[in-house]
Amino acid sequence: MTELKEVDRLKDEFISIASHEMKSPVAAAKGFAQLLLKRMRSAGETANELELAERVTRQIDRMAELLEELLDISRIQSGRLALEREDLDLRPLVQEVADRVQMATEGHKLRLTTCDGAKVYADRIRVEQVLTNLLTNAIRYSPTGGQVDMILAVAGCEAQVSVSDRGIGIPHDKQPYVFERFFRAAEGGGGLGLGLYISRSIVEAHGGRIWLHSQEGKGSTFYFTLPLAE
Ligand code: ADP
Repeated sequence: MTELKEVDRLKDEFISIASHEMKSPVAAAKGFAQLLLKRMRSAGETANELELAERVTRQIDRMAELLEELLDISRIQSGRLALEREDLDLRPLVQEVADRVQMATEGHKLRLTTCDGAKVYADRIRVEQVLTNLLTNAIRYSPTGGQVDMILAVAGCEAQVSVSDRGIGIPHDKQPYVFERFFRAAEGGGGLGLGLYISRSIVEAHGGRIWLHSQEGKGSTFYFTLPLAE
């Protein structure tokens, strides 16, 4: 046990150092790529050349996202995931996130059901991160497209959000592990297996709960709750 804990601690330390060191070069590369793209546009480069530069920018954005997940892991592990809470109505927020995710997908139709009174005292950016994670997973793991439902409801003293897809689902024996660090139920998803761990940490830091129902080959529904504001 002692050795396993030491290995875990070293792993956390490595993630923390590596991700902090990568922060500046990735931010710089992102800035330069955007500048290059801007200059190429005003110089009237051909569509093919622009497409190449756009691809570079997109890949750097993806790298920055993955890096941000690693940085979040260090924050959570060291208890530095500070919440900046405010009075927040979940209705416009879920609408906003759904619109943004819908714009980035062609094969999926997002259907949103909302309600009034979902007022919480929460960190807007962090709740947005959870919503984005669940929606992008629903899309990523339903590769043949289809409908994704997001429902916002109020029950008792909690607001509840659910996101359902009709995708690949998660095998029963793997379901207990999906909220763990670096766990990936399927190969080739393209992620690090950190999103749900981070989402769970965020939800629990707010005093909420997160769970799932899933059937392999049929789809998954992820739920989370947040306590309503007093
Ligand atoms: P990743 O970045 O790999 O998507 P997550 O922590 O968000 O990491 O998810 C962990 C794993 O859980 C994923 O790799 C995938 O195997 C599984 N998973 C998450 N959401 C879904 C979903 N909606 N449908 C099927 N599998 C999912």
